[in-house]
Amino acid sequence: MIIFTRVQELQDHLDIVQNQQKTIGFVPTMGALHEGHLALVEISKKDNDISVCSIFVNPTQFNDLSDLAKYPRTLEKDSRMLESVDCDILFAPEISEMYTEAELELKRQNVEDKGWTNGKTVDFGQLDRVMEGTQRPGHFNGVAQVVSKLFRIVRPNRAYFGQKDFQQLAIIRSMAKQLELPVEIIGCPIVREKDGLAMSSRNVRLTETERAVAPLISKTLFKVKEMKADHSIAELKAFAETELRSEPLMQLEYFEIVDAETLQPVNDYKDAKNVVACIALKLGNVRLIDNIIL
Ligand code: AMP
Repeated sequence: MIIFTRVQELQDHLDIVQNQQKTIGFVPTMGALHEGHLALVEISKKDNDISVCSIFVNPTQFNDLSDLAKYPRTLEKDSRMLESVDCDILFAPEISEMYTEAELELKRQNVEDKGWTNGKTVDFGQLDRVMEGTQRPGHFNGVAQVVSKLFRIVRPNRAYFGQKDFQQLAIIRSMAKQLELPVEIIGCPIVREKDGLAMSSRNVRLTETERAVAPLISKTLFKVKEMKADHSIAELKAFAETELRSEPLMQLEYFEIVDAETLQPVNDYKDAKNVVACIALKLGNVRLIDNIIL
């Protein structure tokens, strides 16, 4: 595996790869890697000649600066994990490689920076006005900003994202479409721990007691999927909310059943082709999300 920290050096290398007509698969991450991330690299390796993984803790997508400071950084271990799945390239830039001082100043002033659209109009419509969008103002703008920068640097044929961040995947699809970026966006299944908890870099921050109750999240989602056959959406919501509120260590932010395309809440199964149940909650100080396609 070759490790690049500089944009120019990575691009020089990828120019050669592209001149050889090789395809590039790309897996953007914020590091603190786990099996879920490695699964994305493995899928990319199957589909492409060269796989690039990036590790960059993106400041502009954090609306809570203490969350940014607490985000785990384990670059050496991550690098060994990527080697173990034969990832070809790791791109791990410093902040100054990714953002200009002016962009960082906007972030410091809490101003939403729309410069990443390159003058085009990008409108996520209702996609960023629900769920994570209401809980984390500016979050998806920061995600779209960094992913569009990374796409311009790496110029991948395909990019791989986990369905764990279902809304993020929808936002990125929409961004790539609106900016007409020549990249295929591929959504990949959620990888879970044996007890069902969705793998997340944040899980290491759970105390032993919190970790012990965390599987209630996925257990509730699996049960909701099972109940779908003979219960209404209102009944599923009532069931899930009661379950998750029964655990005193959990503070439920939302449980929503939404149209998998538009992410708008649905009241009836027939209102959408596919529906997905989405959860966000705080377990102690750790914010966790999970979802399941029903
Ligand atoms: P992150 O660095 O954790 O923000 O995520 C980087 C990529 O990994 C995103 O596309 C996530 O959706 C994906 N990802 C994170 N956790 C999982 C998981 N448990 N299963 C599958 N993909 C995941």
